[in-house]
Amino acid sequence: MLFTLLRRAIVPQTGQKSGIADRFTFQCFSLSMRIMMKPMTQSPLNIFRTVLEWRTFRSTLPPDQFMAFVPTMGALHEGHGSLVKLAGEIAGRGGHVCASIFVNPTQFGPGEDFTRYPRPLAADVELLTKWGAQSLFAPEGEEMYPHNEPAVTVDPGPMADILEGAIRPGHFRGVCTVVAKLLHIIAPTHLLLGQKDFQQQLILCRMVMDFNFPLEVITVPTVREPDGLAMSSRNRYLNADDRAKATAIYDGLQRAAAQIHSGQRDAAVVCRTIRETIAGTGLSVDYALACHPETLQPHEPLIQGPCLLLAAARAGSTRLIDNVMA
Ligand code: AMP
Repeated sequence: MLFTLLRRAIVPQTGQKSGIADRFTFQCFSLSMRIMMKPMTQSPLNIFRTVLEWRTFRSTLPPDQFMAFVPTMGALHEGHGSLVKLAGEIAGRGGHVCASIFVNPTQFGPGEDFTRYPRPLAADVELLTKWGAQSLFAPEGEEMYPHNEPAVTVDPGPMADILEGAIRPGHFRGVCTVVAKLLHIIAPTHLLLGQKDFQQQLILCRMVMDFNFPLEVITVPTVREPDGLAMSSRNRYLNADDRAKATAIYDGLQRAAAQIHSGQRDAAVVCRTIRETIAGTGLSVDYALACHPETLQPHEPLIQGPCLLLAAARAGSTRLIDNVMA
């Protein structure tokens, strides 16, 4: 299942043709046709602030109905929009789309941007309504963590020790713990995650499998600004100068992918291309890696088999991450 999900995320970027690719392309086409053909009426969004409110409502829905769930931290953009719209197509006419907004304190380290993370709830409600979500679960901190720090947390496993996990110790423990809680609360049939946070979706896929959550995970391709920058809630921190420089992350990844497509197999050469492209603008590079997309193990010294290129960089105090399949 994991490989199929990854292929779903991979195929639209590479344009490779395979049975899965064709099926994916067809699904996307028919989904977008159905999105275009939907009547333009908007139903109001039900907003739930407590677990009890949500569970009371959830118990009134038919038990066999699809429930497609999109967890977010808010400050929504079109990247979140693609998850919510796809959730609507998956849920279908009789189904339900629920998004959550919760800026989860346990996934932020000391000195990170938890307190300044944007929280434009009214604008987010408007967007979710426009994208066709039916429900929003938006709890306060005390609702999710009534005893402050949870005593029991989810161990995210060894994939959480590298890359983002090495730079942000404890981050994926916080992510897995809050997503496990949300899955128990929302009880979805489908969970939609973005390829933009590749390591996160991989670890969460493993958590869903390893803990037997009864649901399907769908990984959705990264939505980008017209100049290629991956959409992110943190992009709004960037000043004009850093915003212009930030395009170098996707440029570097694309140049490296082009090298691989033209036969370059030396992982060090490919990673140097990513680093030099990003650092050339003055951004500082946290990591640039060519790895296997199912294990995140580096391709070293040669790139053999499926290859995911990952990069993380800092513009001032703002961290940006991105990835492409090569
Ligand atoms: P966040 O609000 O940043 O926690 O993101 C919520 C979900 O949206 C996660 O599954 C992200 O991977 C996904 N997401 C964020 N940005 C994008 C994007 N540019 N394209 C697709 N999915 C995204």
